[in-house]
Amino acid sequence: MKVAVVGLGIAGLSICARLALAGHKISGFEQFSPLHEFGSSHGDTRMMRLTPGEGEVFVRLARRAGALWRVWEGLYGGPLIEWTGGLMAGPRGSSFIEACAALSTKPAAPMRGDAIHPLTRGYIAMPYEWDVLRQEDCGVIGADATRAFLLRQAPRWGASLHHNTRIEAPIEGPVLRINGQTQEFDAVIVAAGAWARTLLPEFTGKLEIKRRIVAWFATQEPRLLPAMFIDNEDGVYGMPAPRGLYKLGLHAIGGAVDDPAHVREPDEKDADMFGAHARLLLPKHDPNPVRMARCLYTVTPDESFLIKPSAAHERVLLFSACSGHGFKYAPVLGELAEEWLDGRPSPEWEALARGAALRVGGAKS
Ligand SMILES: Cc1cc2nc3c(=O)[nH]c(=O)nc-3n(C[C@H](O)[C@H](O)[C@H](O)COP(=O)(O)OP(=O)(O)OC[C@H]3O[C@@H](n4cnc5c(N)ncnc54)[C@H](O)[C@@H]3O)c2cc1C
Repeated sequence: MKVAVVGLGIAGLSICARLALAGHKISGFEQFSPLHEFGSSHGDTRMMRLTPGEGEVFVRLARRAGALWRVWEGLYGGPLIEWTGGLMAGPRGSSFIEACAALSTKPAAPMRGDAIHPLTRGYIAMPYEWDVLRQEDCGVIGADATRAFLLRQAPRWGASLHHNTRIEAPIEGPVLRINGQTQEFDAVIVAAGAWARTLLPEFTGKLEIKRRIVAWFATQEPRLLPAMFIDNEDGVYGMPAPRGLYKLGLHAIGGAVDDPAHVREPDEKDADMFGAHARLLLPKHDPNPVRMARCLYTVTPDESFLIKPSAAHERVLLFSACSGHGFKYAPVLGELAEEWLDGRPSPEWEALARGAALRVGGAKS
């Protein structure tokens, strides 16, 4: 089939690669240049969790993705994920921690916050009153390395990738408008992240766009620290980053964005907020961020994904692996698109389409 993929963030790249491998004639379109830093997929690292506490469907997707990440690593010729282990933490009784424990294949009881200090040699600290669950099946994805890999691999499998090529909005059926010309396809998959609601206005009320900031801190610790997620009001998460840095992000903090092309750059207020978290959680680090960056979350009301055919045009699929936790599933995103194209949906596809994904708590990085 002749298929267009609109948007070459991590979702669009994975879809192009998978569908090209399956023998479809794929054209991928991206409004910016390769490896740009404007959407949701840029940045050095993302957290990988094979037992995400978001619910059973996500655990199944993570396990499917885990096997496929190994295939990608074989083609890449090296690791794309470093298995650092993770610390899932929160105030006592956190439903997220309970879900992580319940979904785990190796049941373990949470420990008290300060019990982690020997493990992290004091570089990561947590209050005694918090519950902390260790997850060995947690790690850090080389996000930019993965995008670079797919930019090479998808064309090797036959996909045509067109950068600096903006698809005109709105999309009305499997016919795309590019620079005033039209191109017709058998199917169109819209993986346009924060821009999806402009391209497919019928989904406007279902997707909110949020500004998010991440900050990097210098560490003197030569050994790799674990990744972490704190199920508190700010939703602080952290992970090792290249060049001896540790990165923090705030899953739940940042205002709404009207126009994804204009997002406020990080400022002193952001640095102060991150500094306060660093003083508590990273006591042996300099609390002044080495650098900060902005990123976009596209969020659904239930913090799940929104993967749904257009009501108006059945050969047009909205594909938004969003809500701040989609990167870990990267290799399986292409498979989900293929299931739609072939009309052979897996139970995971059907659960996502029903919106039945999240069982407890909100989605975490
Ligand atoms: C700060 C931050 C931290 C995160 N941490 C984690 C984590 O630790 N673990 C995890 O699993 N996930 C994490 N996520 C979530 C994950 O990164 C996203 O779910 C994922 O990147 C979404 O990818 P996407 O391809 O859907 O969107 P995007 O990367 O935004 O891609 C959409 C693309 O479409 C293009 N586009 C839009 N309109 C058009 C048009 N008209 N024509 C052509 N191209 C167009 C855009 O330019 C863009 O490149 C995080 C996200 C952020 C922002």
